[in-house]
Amino acid sequence: MLNIVLFGPPGAGKGTQSELLIAKYNFKHLSTGDIFRANIKNETELGKLAKSYMDHGKLVPDEVTIQMLEAEVNKANSTVGYIFDGFPRTKAQAHALDAFLATKNTSITLMLALEVQEPELRTRLAERAKTSGRPDDAEPSVIQKRIDVYNNETMPVKAYYQTQNKYIGVDGIGTVDAVFNRLIEPLSKLEV
Ligand code: AMP
Repeated sequence: MLNIVLFGPPGAGKGTQSELLIAKYNFKHLSTGDIFRANIKNETELGKLAKSYMDHGKLVPDEVTIQMLEAEVNKANSTVGYIFDGFPRTKAQAHALDAFLATKNTSITLMLALEVQEPELRTRLAERAKTSGRPDDAEPSVIQKRIDVYNNETMPVKAYYQTQNKYIGVDGIGTVDAVFNRLIEPLSKLEV
C-alpha cells in the first residue's frame, strides 16, 4: 500500500493535484475539508459543528476530526492506499493517524508538500472565491486567518514527517501538469 499525505497551505493546489494522483494511482481520496463540506450540505450535526469553525478559518477540534477521518478510512477500505488531503493539520492528528494506520498494519509512505508563498496563496484564493462558492474563500480576513492557522498549528506537522525521513517538498508554482510531474517523481521511484 502507498499512503500519501498531501500537504500545503490553503490554496496550494492540494485538491487539484489529488484528483490527478487518484486518476493515475487509484488511491482513495480522503479530504477532510470535502467531508466537512458534504456534512454541511446534508445538514448533519457534524456539519453544523464544523461550519462554526470553518466559517472563521479555524480548525475543527482534533477529537472530532480524527474520529471522522478514521470512520472514513474504515468505510473506504482501500487495498491500493490513501491520499490524505488536508489531514493531518496538527501534530495530535499526525500522531493519531500513525497509531490508527499501525492497527491496520500499514503506515504513511510519504508526505508530499506543495510549497507556495503567501502572496501567491492570497491571489489564488481570491480568484477561487469567484467560483468555489466557499464562504471561507470569500472574506480576506478569513483567508488570512487560515494562512495564520497553517503557519502556527499545521507547520509543525512538516517537522513530524521530516524526522521520519518522509517529507518531500515540491515547488507548487507553475502549470498544473508541471507541478504534477514534480509530485510523481518520488512516487515513480517507489513503484520500482
Ligand atoms: P480545506 O478544504 O482543506 O481547505 O479545509 C477547509 C476547512 O475545513 C479548514 O479551514 C478547517 O476549518 C476545516 N478542516 C479541514 N481539514 C481539517 C483538519 N484536518 N483539522 C481541522 N479542521 C479541518
